[in-house]
Amino acid sequence: MFSSMSMQYRRVGTSGLKVSALSYGAWVTFGKQVGDPVAAKLLHTAYDAGVNFFDNAETYADGQAERVMGAILKESGWPRDTFLVSSKVFFGAERDGPNQVGLSRKHVIEACHAALQRLQVEYLDLYYCHRPDPDTPIEETARAMHDLITQGKVLYWGTSEWSAAEIKQAFETCAKLNLHRPVVEQPQYNLFHRTRVEKEYAPLYAAPGLGTTVWSPLASGLLTGKYNDGVPSTSRLNTPGMEWLRDRLANDPTYPRKMAAIKQLAAIASELGTSLPRLALAWCLKNPHVSSVILGASKPEQLKENFGALEVVDQLTPDVMKRIEAISKPIAD
Ligand code: NDP
Repeated sequence: MFSSMSMQYRRVGTSGLKVSALSYGAWVTFGKQVGDPVAAKLLHTAYDAGVNFFDNAETYADGQAERVMGAILKESGWPRDTFLVSSKVFFGAERDGPNQVGLSRKHVIEACHAALQRLQVEYLDLYYCHRPDPDTPIEETARAMHDLITQGKVLYWGTSEWSAAEIKQAFETCAKLNLHRPVVEQPQYNLFHRTRVEKEYAPLYAAPGLGTTVWSPLASGLLTGKYNDGVPSTSRLNTPGMEWLRDRLANDPTYPRKMAAIKQLAAIASELGTSLPRLALAWCLKNPHVSSVILGASKPEQLKENFGALEVVDQLTPDVMKRIEAISKPIAD
């Protein structure tokens, strides 16, 4: 077991909030792929290792992921000031009527109330707009977020998979109207998907200071090498409801090159005396603009394995990074 001494904490952009460099999210697993006792074990394993951020969303298992997490948090007795919990609004939970999805004032506020109930907490530490909503003016969403913050129901707000232009517009709107601005973006970031974090958002990091909590750091498990010889029966790609992900990968024209790259990356990992998942996660951690790498895991052993990435970051010397770049960059989005 890793002690909390080995965990690192990073500022979320230029805000004062400190998040563990590795955090834990509930997508696919809670309320769906794993039973509630396993979910409890996973959350406790993460907390015991110093993870202080648990990521969730209204849409995960149609709200059930938040209910499962809320019950575990309540049962744990963990002091509220030792963890951060998030929700995300946009896709809706159980229903998808015209005002049950999107980023209108009505849905942003009602979805927040529903998430607070499911998670059994008085406030969300982070509340993300899960996608941009072309049907709602940014002023409307920003003011709804600002109001939730002034009411004490949300502490910080952010975006997920917004373009740099959309985030910039949110910053400018909040500055003009004197509203609390978004402090964090939640983008996908891994060895095979990196342009947005590295290039598109580059101008947003310095001022006013965007933080990032990045998702799918192992490309849904691909970067563990577990799919090298087909799809294991207990894996995410074999989970009911995840057929779209399996099809997307199967139809990806760069898939064969990715599989070849995975073998080359695994060889570098073993040269360094570590594993491929640790190497791939350490590579994400190496980026100073990443506030937190959100881990997914369906088994406590995976989490324990992945926490070891913290010790690999220093082994990624300029020379090793160069070799990793040569393998991964040409096939990355
Ligand atoms: P990963 O890319 O790390 O994939 C996690 C999956 O990989 C696990 O569930 C497990 O799958 C497999 N895995 C992890 N570690 C190991 C290991 N050591 N050995 C073997 N297999 C391993 O992350 P996620 O895609 O889960 O994303 C992390 C979190 O980010 C989510 O839970 C969610 O909170 C957030 N997210 C946010 C999104 C957004 O739009 N904002 C979108 C997607 C995720 P298996 O069950 O097959 O073993």
